[in-house]
Amino acid sequence: MSHERIHRFLAEHRPPTPCLVVDTEEVTARVREFASGLPHARLRYAVKANPEPAVLRAVLAAGGGFDVASPAEVTACLDAGAAPEVLSYGSTIKKPADIAFAFGCGVREFTTDAASDVDHLAEHAPGSAVSVRVLVDAPASATPFGRKFGCAPGEAVALLTKAAELGLDPAGLAFHVGSQQLDVTAWEAGISTTAKLFAELAAAGIKPRWLNIGGGFGHSYRESAPPLSAYFAAVRGALDAYFPDSAPELVLEPGRAIVAGAGLIRTEVVLVAWRGEHRWVYLDIGRYNGLAETENEAIHYRLDAAGERGPVVLAGPTCDGDDVLYQHTPCELPLALAPGDRLDILDAGAYTASYSSVSFNGIEPLRTYCLD
Ligand SMILES: *Cc1c(COP(=O)(O)O)cnc(C)c1O
Repeated sequence: MSHERIHRFLAEHRPPTPCLVVDTEEVTARVREFASGLPHARLRYAVKANPEPAVLRAVLAAGGGFDVASPAEVTACLDAGAAPEVLSYGSTIKKPADIAFAFGCGVREFTTDAASDVDHLAEHAPGSAVSVRVLVDAPASATPFGRKFGCAPGEAVALLTKAAELGLDPAGLAFHVGSQQLDVTAWEAGISTTAKLFAELAAAGIKPRWLNIGGGFGHSYRESAPPLSAYFAAVRGALDAYFPDSAPELVLEPGRAIVAGAGLIRTEVVLVAWRGEHRWVYLDIGRYNGLAETENEAIHYRLDAAGERGPVVLAGPTCDGDDVLYQHTPCELPLALAPGDRLDILDAGAYTASYSSVSFNGIEPLRTYCLD
């Protein structure tokens, strides 16, 4: 990606750093790429990846809907012009009041993974379409969910049966293979597990209509991810293999893959210091004002700066010892780098501004500029 529009904006406006600049044309292009690779699927963009109104409008204009997880995300999508029919409440962790709020706004699709949440849905979102999220055995992703979400596959039949008994619409099954999933076979595992459940449910008289295969589609940071076409081929292949007669409707919830490549963060070097053998470079952005995904050095961003490079330890600006971006991951920056120099962090459109703290050390949340 050349990011020509972003560079032109930065050159013209010289905004204070750090800042994130998002090219919404890239967002539109990615939504269209999903639509052409998996043509009959419903796309529900995971709003938490980047909830900027201009990003939401671009997703909507390209034909996408939204995966939301809170009343504020519901409101953001409606304010961006979405009809409630294109919203799916995908978080399984929600208060009864949150369910009631979403239902009151017209949201009629919810994901669940526990009996008490099914009770709350029956009470506060009567008649709504419910998907049960199952925990599937998939290869580890870069930022895995562990065992936090999803019931055991064996519980799914009981939960959907309970939902039907309480007057809800037992509409689907769902899974998520973990974010930044670089192994496309993860979806084969999920589709094979859920295909068995569709058969069990049919035997119990319940016929869910859709399968939500979540997000997790990878983006190329320093390590490259498979192209989206490889993910689509794996999904299509698994649907053909495990649903040979008729596949359920497909629902997708990509977040990262839609918006990561659309954004660039411009940052400034605050300090360069030798500490023993190591050259430390401190930026005006760190773990708490936009680069949360450097926790455990999970995401290795590409850094754009001209000049001959040498190794550095890269750190953020705050007074927190954990605000170090890369000390185990080899990282190289220009040898001539000095305080005041600008540095660009590439592919930073996802999980950056939305993860920024409000005022840790008095630092304001990451400012975002969206190019329409
Ligand atoms: C975060 C999330 C997504 C998006 O995941 P990506 O890895 O960004 O594609 C999709 N669905 C649910 C339920 C999520 O929590």
